[in-house]
Amino acid sequence: MRKPIIAGNWKMHLVRAEAASLADALKKTLHGIEEVEIVIAPAFTALSAVAEIIEGSNIRLAAQNVHWEASGAYTGEISPLMLKDVGCTYVIVGHSERRQYFKEGNEAVNKKVRAVLSVGLRPILCIGETLKERQEGKTMAVIRRQLEGALRGVEEAALKEVVIAYEPVWAIGTGQTATPGQAEEVHREIRRLLKAKYSEETALATRIQYGGSVKPENIAELMAEEDIDGALVGGASLKAESFVKIVRYREQP
Ligand code: PEP
Repeated sequence: MRKPIIAGNWKMHLVRAEAASLADALKKTLHGIEEVEIVIAPAFTALSAVAEIIEGSNIRLAAQNVHWEASGAYTGEISPLMLKDVGCTYVIVGHSERRQYFKEGNEAVNKKVRAVLSVGLRPILCIGETLKERQEGKTMAVIRRQLEGALRGVEEAALKEVVIAYEPVWAIGTGQTATPGQAEEVHREIRRLLKAKYSEETALATRIQYGGSVKPENIAELMAEEDIDGALVGGASLKAESFVKIVRYREQP
C-alpha cells in the first residue's frame, strides 16, 4: 500500500526564527505519527535551522527548488548536493509558480528531476493545468505533456523515489479546490500514464499528491479517493493548527 504523504510548502514566507518556531510546534504536536509521511519545505535560508530542529523526528525536510548543475558559475543557484548536505530528503520541482513566473519549461524540470535523483534526493514533481487549459478541454493533454517531459530518461527503478503532485493552477492559493471527483479523474489518468510508460506495479506504487487550496475542511474527502495519496499544502501549512489537522485527517469525525 502507498503511504500517504502530506507536505507543506512554505513558499517565500517565514524568516529563520518564525520557521524554527513552526517546525518546533509541528515536531511536538505530530510526534509519533508514522502512518502518514510528513514533509515541510521552508525557504532556503531557513533549511539549516529547521533541519536541526526536526533531526531525528518523523518530519522530513524539502527544498522548494534546485538547480540541475552539480556545481559551477551559476550565481544565485543551489545544487542538489547542497540540499542533501543541509539535510533535505525531498525537493519540490516544477511548481507552477516556478513555471509561471520564472519560465521553467518541461526541459528544465526534467533536468532538475534527474539531477535530484542523481544525488539520492527525492523529487516532488508538480504538474497541473491552468484554468484556460481546463476550460478548453486540454487538461489531460497538458498533464501528459508535463509528465512525459519531466520523466524523460528517468528509469523505472528511479521512479519509486519520485512523488507526483497534481496541482491545478487555478486551485493554488485561490481558495477554489478541485472537487474530489475532478482531482481523482486526473490522478487516475496520471497513474494510467505511469502504467503505460513503466509497469502496473510501478504505477500502483507511485504516490500522487493533490495540491490546491487544501485545508482541514476538505482533506478527508480528497484522501478518500482511491488515487489520491497525499497533499501538497501551501497557505494552510503556515499555521501549525491547520497543518496538524490536515496531517491528522484520519481522526476527523
Ligand atoms: C502550493 O503552493 O503548492 C499550494 C497548493 O498552495 P495552496 O495550498 O495555498 O493553494
